Amino acid sequence: MKRTAQDILNFVEDNDVKFVRLAFCDIFGNQKNISLFASELPGAFEHGVCFDGSSIAGFMNTEESDLVLWPDPDTVCILPWRPAEGRVMRMYCDITLPDGKPFEGNCRGYLQSVVRRARAMGLICNVGCECEFYLFETDDHGNPTKIPLDHGGYFDIAPLDKGENIRREICFAMEDLGLRPQHSHHESGHGQNEVDFLYAPALRSADNLNTFKSTVKAIAGRNGLFASFMPKPLRDQAGSGLHVNISLKRDGKNLFEGDIAPDSEPGHFIAGILAHARELTAFCNPLPNSYARFGSCEAPQYISWSRQNRSQLVRLPSAHGELCRMEMRSPDPSCNPHLAIGLILAAGLDGIQNKMPLPAPINRNLFLHSSTEGLESLPRSLREAITVAASSDFISNELPLALLNKYFEYQTRLCLDFESAPDPEAWERENCFPTI
Ligand code: GLU
Ligand code: MG
Ligand code: MG
Repeated sequence: MKRTAQDILNFVEDNDVKFVRLAFCDIFGNQKNISLFASELPGAFEHGVCFDGSSIAGFMNTEESDLVLWPDPDTVCILPWRPAEGRVMRMYCDITLPDGKPFEGNCRGYLQSVVRRARAMGLICNVGCECEFYLFETDDHGNPTKIPLDHGGYFDIAPLDKGENIRREICFAMEDLGLRPQHSHHESGHGQNEVDFLYAPALRSADNLNTFKSTVKAIAGRNGLFASFMPKPLRDQAGSGLHVNISLKRDGKNLFEGDIAPDSEPGHFIAGILAHARELTAFCNPLPNSYARFGSCEAPQYISWSRQNRSQLVRLPSAHGELCRMEMRSPDPSCNPHLAIGLILAAGLDGIQNKMPLPAPINRNLFLHSSTEGLESLPRSLREAITVAASSDFISNELPLALLNKYFEYQTRLCLDFESAPDPEAWERENCFPTI
C-alpha cells in the first residue's frame, strides 16, 4: 500500500527525525539535496519546496529559474551514517514548474511514464542493477588519489582483499535503508568491489541505485577512502560496469523463463534493445571516459546477445523462476539511472510494439578480434555516441527537446575539453575523477 504524507509526518514524530533531506538528480544523474528542519515538512507536502533551477546543471536559465520539489512518501528512509539522535530522513522528489506543470528535466517523471506505458501493454518491469566501484586511498588533505586500496582480484580473500570490512558496513547500511543486499565480493581490478542488492520495480530500482552510490561514498569516506564510480579509473585494470537486469511479467508470469523464441514478446523486447543500442549509448555511457571501458575485461563493444557469454551486449544469465532475466552489460555507473533505465525499457517496448525479430545468438568470444566480423559496434567515443543519439527519431520521440539540447550541449563541451587537453587522461583525472 502506498504511504501518505500523514504516515510520514507520524513517522517523523515517532522517530526523533529532526532533518529531512529532499533529494533529486540533475539531468546528468548527480544527486543534489536540500535539508529541511522537520517542522517544515507539512508545508513541503502541501505546497512543495521552491528552489533555484538555474543553479542545477541542465535545468533552467536565470530568466525563469524557479522549480518546485515534491517529496515522494514512498521513498522515505533514515540516513544511517548521520547521527542517531536528531535523525536525518531522506526522500526523493519529483520536480514541477511553479504552476504545477510537468518539468522536462524531471527524469524520475520520464521513467514513471515508461513504466505506465509498459503497464498499459499489460507488462510489469522489474529491474536489478549490479554496480561495480573502486576504492582508492586519499591523501593527507582527504582528497582522492589513484592508489587502489589493495591489489586483490576477482573473489579474492583477505589479506589480498582489504575491502571486506567496508563491504560489510555497506551491506548493513543498505539493510537499514531497505535495499536488501544479496552478495558482495572483490572484483577483478585492484581495489575494485561489487555489492549487489535485490531487484525491484523499475522506479524503485533507479532510486535504489542512487541510494546505493551515496551509501558507498559515505561509508568509504568514513573509512578515509574514496569510492569511485568512474567507468575506467585505471587504464590497466577492469572498468566498472552497471549491468541492468530486466524481467517482464505478464499476468504474473515471468516472460524470461524458459526458451526465448525469436518471435516471442521477450524476443522482441531484446531485439528492440539491440536495435536501439547505439542510440542509447550517450545516455548509458555519458562520459568521454566511458569509452575506454568497452571491448575488454568483460565489457562489451559489439551489438549481439547470447546465453551466458560475457563478451556480449545482452546476456541471458542462467537462473530459475523469478530470477530469469536479460542482462544489458553496456551501461556504466556514471549514467543517470532514471534516464538510462527508462530508455532501455522504452527500446524494449518499441521492439514489442513493432514485433522486431530477435537475431540469432552469437556464441563466440568477441574479445578475440577475428570473431567480430559482420557485427555492429557500439559507438567508440562520446562524440560518436552524441552524433548517433542526436539524429535518432527514437530518442527525440522519447525525451523532450529542451532536455536533449541541454544534455548534448553539456556532453559536447566535455568532448571538446577532453579532445583539446594536452593530456586527456590528466584532464579526466582533474575534472571527472573527483566527482564521479
Ligand atoms: N567489470 C566488467 C564491466 O566493466 C564486468 C564484469 C562482470 O561481469 O561482473 O562491465
Ligand atoms: Mg561484476
Ligand atoms: Mg552481471
